[in-house]
Order: sequence, then structure tokens, then C-alpha cells
Amino acid sequence: MTTVVIVGDGPAGLSAGLFLAKNGVDTIVFGQDATAMHYAHLHNYLGVEDLGGSDFQVVARRQAAAHGADLRDAEVTAITPDDDDGGFLVQAGGDEVAAEYVILAGGKQAQSLAAALGAERDGGRVPIDVEQRTVVDRLYAVGRVARPDRSQAIISAGAGAVAALDILSREAGRDVHDWDSPPSD
Ligand SMILES: Cc1cc2nc3c(=O)[nH]c(=O)nc-3n(C[C@H](O)[C@H](O)[C@H](O)COP(=O)(O)OP(=O)(O)OC[C@H]3O[C@@H](n4cnc5c(N)ncnc54)[C@H](O)[C@@H]3O)c2cc1C
Repeated sequence: MTTVVIVGDGPAGLSAGLFLAKNGVDTIVFGQDATAMHYAHLHNYLGVEDLGGSDFQVVARRQAAAHGADLRDAEVTAITPDDDDGGFLVQAGGDEVAAEYVILAGGKQAQSLAAALGAERDGGRVPIDVEQRTVVDRLYAVGRVARPDRSQAIISAGAGAVAALDILSREAGRDVHDWDSPPSD
């Protein structure tokens, strides 16, 4: 099974984790719930009229986990290319995890991990294309790590979804949506 490691557990990382796990991908989200969302109060997240950022995080973490994302309370300390499999080896909390894809969703803190892999910063941000791909194959950057100076929760969550759909599409060999419909009773 394809394994995706997500570095960061704010809106960007949890959104990517939700979409991937919901669609059957082995998904590990590393983070210690130290997101800036704990300083935010949402009035500008469409569909959410008035919600504390910490309350948002409680729901988001529960939602991602309920769909199968493995939320691990650890910091990612290093990521190196896995020369045998073309993916990555991720060091976190004393463990090493092999992954076919990595999504950097760690905010500004994750920029050094990107640089170490060759996805160099450009003016304080990690360059990405419209699918959130970096210049390194199978390495994505979403949310604040890619656009630190224009950061909004809804943009981060959307970027996580974009990266997840791109991975799902690459694995399926066709374009993939994740669409649900109301139950027909
Ligand atoms: C005071 C304040 C008020 C705000 N108000 C609003 C608002 O009203 N509306 C709005 O839309 N936005 C608001 N924001 C911005 C909002 O918080 C950010 O847009 C949002 O948190 C970005 O989400 P993200 O997932 O990209 O990154 P973050 O939320 O920064 O999440 C990154 C996560 O990754 C973790 N991480 C980093 N490196 C590693 C690593 N190596 N290993 C494991 N984990 C790692 C971090 O600890 C963090 O938990 C506010 C921010 C602040 C500071």
C-alpha cells in the first residue's frame, strides 16, 4: 500500500490527511498540535460562522483520525531520499518511516526540511506548482510553508486537499474527485 507522510498537523496537514486516509491511503500525520490555530478565532472560514481555532482543531483532528489517518505526536527531525524505492525516509520520535510521498505542512518551521531535500526557498517560501508539487518529485508543500505571508486557515485546508487529490490521481492513473452525496432514504 502507498504510504504518505504529512509533516504538520494544522489545517493544511489535517486536510491532506483526511482526503488521503478517506480514500484508502496509508496516511501518517506527524505533529504536536502546536499550530497557530490556537491563537485564531474563525469568522472568515466559509461555512463556519464563529468558531475558536482550538475548537476547529479538535474537530479536524477527530475527523481525520475517524477516516483512518494515523496522527502521531512527534516532531519530524529529518527527511532523506530513499534511494532503493524512490521515496523518502522520515525520522520522527526515534522511528524511521518509509514513504512514497511526503507532504510538508509544517508552516515556516518546515522550510529547512524542504531546503535539505533540494526544494530551496525562494524569497521565504517553498516554490510549488498548482498541484502543490515542489521541484522534488513526490514532495509537496502546502499551507504556510509555501505562502507564509498570506496565510489563512481556509487556504491551507484547500491546499492540503489539492495535494491529496494529486497523489490520489497519480496513484490511480486518472483524475480523482472525492465526492459524496446525501443518503437516499
Ligand atoms: C493571532 C492569529 C490569529 C489568526 N486568525 C486567523 C483567522 O481569523 N482566520 C484565518 O483564516 N487564519 C487566522 N490565522 C492564521 C492561521 O492560524 C493560519 O493560516 C493556519 O494556522 C495555517 O495553517 P497551516 O496548516 O498551513 O500551518 P500551521 O497552522 O502553522 O500548522 C503547522 C503545524 O506543523 C507543526 N510542525 C512544524 N514543523 C514540524 C515538524 N518538523 N514535525 C512535526 N510537526 C511540525 C507545527 O507545530 C504546527 O502544528 C491567525 C493566526 C494567528 C497567529
